[in-house]
Amino acid sequence: MLLEKIKHLEIFRPKCDSTKEVLHAIADLDADISPSLPFLNAELGGWDYDAQNHVLLLKLAAGKWITLQSRQIAIRGCRDLEEARALVAWITSQVNEIYGRRESITPRYTGQAGLKVMEILKLLPMTNCRACGYATCMAFAAALREGETALADCPPLLEDRFQEKRAKLQEYLAAYGWRALDEDVNSP
Ligand code: SF4
Repeated sequence: MLLEKIKHLEIFRPKCDSTKEVLHAIADLDADISPSLPFLNAELGGWDYDAQNHVLLLKLAAGKWITLQSRQIAIRGCRDLEEARALVAWITSQVNEIYGRRESITPRYTGQAGLKVMEILKLLPMTNCRACGYATCMAFAAALREGETALADCPPLLEDRFQEKRAKLQEYLAAYGWRALDEDVNSP
């Protein structure tokens, strides 16, 4: 087991948040979890991963973020104490569970933040037909990069004539571990 226990856990309301409606949590760890980060990135679909400095950023639904560093986990955007504690328990269990399976996981060193909107756009039909609900293909590409929509939400892309673009776009997204936010990690 990589992570035995949390040395110190602080859950607090950020002073800079005037709404006072969210909680942040910081957990100091008893072990260096950096060896687990490329495997967590592969399994949980990290938004950004800085392998050199051992920083992994996970983007969850509803504006929640988890930042994992060598000896600290920070969570922001929790709606209440119960959710903050549940997220801390979940992510620490994921560290051990995923690291325990590392022999069967291909580590990933890229993050979704590396995706370029223009590269996505080039692989869309570029008709601005609005069938996806977005005003332009560019707007759809930006939302897709963020994980806020999915390929299937662009009906023309599913047509045979765009099969090659679709395949290339799937390949491009997969290289960065893309996933839709609502398909994301099974967090509480
Ligand atoms: S449905 Fe597809 S082709 Fe039409 S505007 Fe949206 S992204 Fe562009």
